[in-house]
Amino acid sequence: LLVLVSCALSVITGLVIARGGVGSTTVRQRPVIGLSMDTLKEERWQVDRDLFTEKAKAAGADVLVQSANSNDAIQLQNVESLITQKVDALVIIPHDGAAMAKAVNLAHQAGIPVLSYDRLITGCDLDLYLTFDNVKVGELQAKFLVDRIPAGGKLRVIRIYGAKTDNNAKLFKQGQDNVLQPLIAAGKLEVIFEDWAEDWKPESAKKITNAAITKNGANFDAILASNDGTAGGAIQALTEEGLTGKIIVTGQDADLAACQRIAQGTQAMTVYKPIQSIATKAAELALKLAQRKPLVAKDAISNGQFEVPAVLLDIVSVTKENLRETVVKDGFRKESDVFQSS
Ligand code: BGC
Repeated sequence: LLVLVSCALSVITGLVIARGGVGSTTVRQRPVIGLSMDTLKEERWQVDRDLFTEKAKAAGADVLVQSANSNDAIQLQNVESLITQKVDALVIIPHDGAAMAKAVNLAHQAGIPVLSYDRLITGCDLDLYLTFDNVKVGELQAKFLVDRIPAGGKLRVIRIYGAKTDNNAKLFKQGQDNVLQPLIAAGKLEVIFEDWAEDWKPESAKKITNAAITKNGANFDAILASNDGTAGGAIQALTEEGLTGKIIVTGQDADLAACQRIAQGTQAMTVYKPIQSIATKAAELALKLAQRKPLVAKDAISNGQFEVPAVLLDIVSVTKENLRETVVKDGFRKESDVFQSS
């Protein structure tokens, strides 16, 4: 069965109609979706890749996956190669959200619709953005600290942001700022050191923590780390100083290592973003784009150039108290993996 498509992208009150080569694009019976990933470094991305591929295949599509090892030139080449292989739709997790605009333009020139996955591609005419509520991630992380300000006292905090190239890192910071600013203004919270972790590297987070300790000594109460990878790096620095478990450390992703640290008490919280939801939804939407079928996106998010139709998924704050009721109950983590007898 060949479906003839004659529509370009349009958004009518939340309805997205995928672009296609005007009047001539033929959609294969079993469409092919290209997945271009920034990295597989953090554990979550391996889960994203596996679940996305599984769900898309089950729904009747084939998937070609490429990973760029945090390198923009490689990611652009990956997308070019997927375009050459004539994928019917592209799903991109950009390393650098601004740099990947070029890849989106190339895909569009070839009549291929693009879904931006988890991270936003900025400065281009993008078809769809699927993500979690990233501002809320930052708000939950900061709220956790604010709830632990001692009565009549103040909390001294080191802030570790994510990669500057990742639009999400800015949104996490924005969410944190929303919650922290009034407390900072009231003198109840003091940021004693802050920096951006290059490419979200744990080593970079460790260096930031070392630098903060060199400057201020152990005179701080918390590390507002933006994800579990950077939390892990920061905790290594704390371990060297004999401070593990004495400092409140936040995170994000519910990585297995982070869940274990939470169970052991060396990390205080993480934010669980159900990968199953984003991967399943992305597979469903990418397939519709590939088949040039209309789909509905309730939200819209500006990427600087365009109000991108967007789908936002919800998230959960995870602590030692609710590890079992959240990540374990959801089947994301096994109880025996998280609570290891030591
Ligand atoms: C994702 C996080 C992830 C980070 C580092 C962000 O864009 O939303 O889940 O920890 O990138 O890969």
